[in-house]
Amino acid sequence: MPDKVQTFMDYVKAKDPGQPEFHQAVFEVVNSIMPVVEKNPKYQRAKILERIVEPERVLMFRVPWVNDKGEVQVNRGFRIEMNSAIGPYKGGLRFHPSVNLSILKFLAFEQVFKNSLTTLPMGGGKGGSDFDPKGKSDNEVMHFCQSFMNELFRHIGANTDVPAGDIGVGGREIGFLFGQYKKLRNEFTGVLTGKAPKWGGSLIRPEATGYGAVYFADEMMKTRKQSLNGKTATVSGSGNVAQYTVEKCLDLGCKVVTLSDSAGTIYDPKGIDREKLAFVMELKNVKRGRIKEYADKYGCQFLAGKRPWAVKCDVAFPSATQNEVDVNDAKELVKNGCICVSEGANMPSTPEAIEVYLNAKIMYGLGKAANAGGVSVSGLEMSQNSLHLSWTREEVDKRLQGIMKAIHEQCVEHGKEGSFINYVKGANIAGFIKVADSMLDQGVV
Ligand code: NDP
Repeated sequence: MPDKVQTFMDYVKAKDPGQPEFHQAVFEVVNSIMPVVEKNPKYQRAKILERIVEPERVLMFRVPWVNDKGEVQVNRGFRIEMNSAIGPYKGGLRFHPSVNLSILKFLAFEQVFKNSLTTLPMGGGKGGSDFDPKGKSDNEVMHFCQSFMNELFRHIGANTDVPAGDIGVGGREIGFLFGQYKKLRNEFTGVLTGKAPKWGGSLIRPEATGYGAVYFADEMMKTRKQSLNGKTATVSGSGNVAQYTVEKCLDLGCKVVTLSDSAGTIYDPKGIDREKLAFVMELKNVKRGRIKEYADKYGCQFLAGKRPWAVKCDVAFPSATQNEVDVNDAKELVKNGCICVSEGANMPSTPEAIEVYLNAKIMYGLGKAANAGGVSVSGLEMSQNSLHLSWTREEVDKRLQGIMKAIHEQCVEHGKEGSFINYVKGANIAGFIKVADSMLDQGVV
């Protein structure tokens, strides 16, 4: 590790010990941008690095609610308002038992650079709770969401901070959260994205992250005069991002052979076709069942407790959670002939796994570039809300494709190393410069 990076990381760790995910996300960015900071004394004088790792505001609050048995439950709610240099805070809410300050700070930090890459005016934020929606009734989820919003409503707004979904927060949760916000504020505004189209949502928002990750993979493939058509892909997860990654792969003629959840992986060598995908969507979004039921129904293998990375593929789409691809998984992927990794999830690859991809010179699209389609269409949802109109599917999809192309171009511009494109460097530098220059323009605030 270069000295300057080490010194800075020591500073971050001393200030916030016990936040390993946040340290990991900061390291990845700082390692890429240190040469830019060293060349630009204006960033050093204004202490941009020290300021950019410090959230503008951290909110932590009690979320009490009553379950179906009449018992009082207490969860913890969070909102990290990380950086508003280029627009209102924007980023999802995660409901998962693992949620803590470190995880949400890493996600909020990533979001700042991702949102900068989208070309849209959005700052970075993230929030959530250690609430686990799994196994809860709709009624319990509603009571939790209402209690969560009873505190959050005073901190957010269409021009201040606009949350969306993430793990454990989909259309159902956004509906309950929006209903409570409206009741408390007595106003109908674009305060959340991921709303249903009949009450202010954008078409293509549910699809956007998965579609975007596939569009980004397609752009990467084009740089090597290849395409996804005829390729085999592995996808992890089976939630929102994974489902629409499979759908767009099917559109582009790419066969997907795996999906997973926290209990294991299904391996279907014949490929997940549209009928099987419809089964998965019903299973996960309506019945809220487990992916193993796919193996039971279609008679394919279920790899209990395993992730998909030992399955041979040309392209991998990690779409479940952080640190789900470790160094051994990455080696296995490369050994089995994988030429492209496009991350639907946030920070799914460990730093050691990233080293393996970069050393093998495979195409590696990191999350903050490859999965920016979701927040991009959230940005488009905000635009439509401000204009009080709705665009067609075709219009939104065309804009999404344009944005993914623009993100790819920025990565190429800042990440070219001879004939190789280092997307890590490209995305981090491009995302950083816009935010850092905006912070300079706005003074020491
Ligand atoms: P969902 O809740 O819809 O699905 C999450 C999936 O990942 C589930 O299959 C879940 O399995 C699995 N998963 C979650 N945590 C773990 C874990 N610790 N170990 C193994 N599997 C796990 O979430 P999304 O699809 O929305 O999000 C997936 C990823 O994409 C996250 O990293 C998120 O931050 C990222 N992302 C999402 C965006 C969006 O628009 N939704 C935008 C950009 C990034 P199980 O049900 O067993 O928990």
